[in-house]
Amino acid sequence: MTIDQYANRFVCDLVAYEPGKPIDETARELGLDPSQIVKVASNENPLGPSPLAKIAMREALEEAHIYPDGGGYRLRSAIADSFGMELSNVVLGNGSNEIIELLCHTFLNRDAELIAAKHAFVVYKLMATLFGAKYVEVPDPGFVHDLDAMADAITDKTRLVFIANPNNPTGTMVSQQAIDRFMARVPAHVIVVFDEAYFEFPDSPPDALKYVREGRNVCVLRTFSKIHGLAALRVGYGLASKSVATLLQKARQPFNVNAIAQAGALAALADTEHIEKTRSVNRAGMAFYEEALAARNLEYVPSFANFLLIKTGDGDRVFRDMLKQGVIVRAMSSYKLPDWVRISIGTEPQNRRCLEVLDSVLAATAAA
Ligand SMILES: *Cc1c(COP(=O)(O)O)cnc(C)c1O
Repeated sequence: MTIDQYANRFVCDLVAYEPGKPIDETARELGLDPSQIVKVASNENPLGPSPLAKIAMREALEEAHIYPDGGGYRLRSAIADSFGMELSNVVLGNGSNEIIELLCHTFLNRDAELIAAKHAFVVYKLMATLFGAKYVEVPDPGFVHDLDAMADAITDKTRLVFIANPNNPTGTMVSQQAIDRFMARVPAHVIVVFDEAYFEFPDSPPDALKYVREGRNVCVLRTFSKIHGLAALRVGYGLASKSVATLLQKARQPFNVNAIAQAGALAALADTEHIEKTRSVNRAGMAFYEEALAARNLEYVPSFANFLLIKTGDGDRVFRDMLKQGVIVRAMSSYKLPDWVRISIGTEPQNRRCLEVLDSVLAATAAA
């Protein structure tokens, strides 16, 4: 007899999310100095946190004995202003991942269906499973979301459709035209979620916010974890029509975003210098990898984000072998891509090191 029989079946059925391997853990296991390890496994900002955010967070520490502003007034107002929206359109989350959960709390049940692309971010599937909903996976030829096929998959039971744009782990992006054609077909009982965690990286991303402004049942997700370099803080937000946002507010915990995170995020939002630097380092790193991979005849998926999906053969092994040399990448078997690894774009020295180690691992495999 096990306690499992008393647990929610959907929880028992879950396979827990496996994050990028932490630097400290790797250092402990390999007996290495943490400072020598290169982690390019979680699409974090290689330049670190926004410097303005660091200053604001240090100040906020002085008030750490006071509960945070549960309504997140200052941060939500600043976000709303930056998009010409109202406070009532903005929902804060403990990472944008929490907004995904709030959407599921609000709209999913055992009769509901959630639609996502075959190689979409795995958290959508985890959440659908957790809430006992049916997960409907739509093929994505060439690793690009097929929005026509996703519209075809909508039924009376569909409640949520997730479009990660650019998508993780593929780095692909759908066009404005594809989005517009899709939105023209979406009925009123369906909420469309545009997960735009990497929105700031492409040069001309499509505009999904216009559908929020039109009052459609749309939620656009953004995060402070990537371009702003604040992944450790866990802060993200949803931009939604007032009616959707009001429901999401009811589903969250009273103080879901801590005060240090709110202060850091508020400062980061205004740190255009850090944003521009990050974009520029990413652009240079992406060009470096594209050239290097082409020269090696290594297949990769052209990416609009801050990472690349690379076909190395046996990704689990490449991950393990690179790890031994202190470089942490992400194996993709949990994404049904056993022959691929995902590598985040780092600083120039990190990129060089990572490529050097990848070369040595692939050479050793070829020689074996
Ligand atoms: C990184 C990422 C997020 C951000 O998650 P947070 O909870 O905000 O850190 C969301 N969606 C996708 C697709 C991502 O890759």
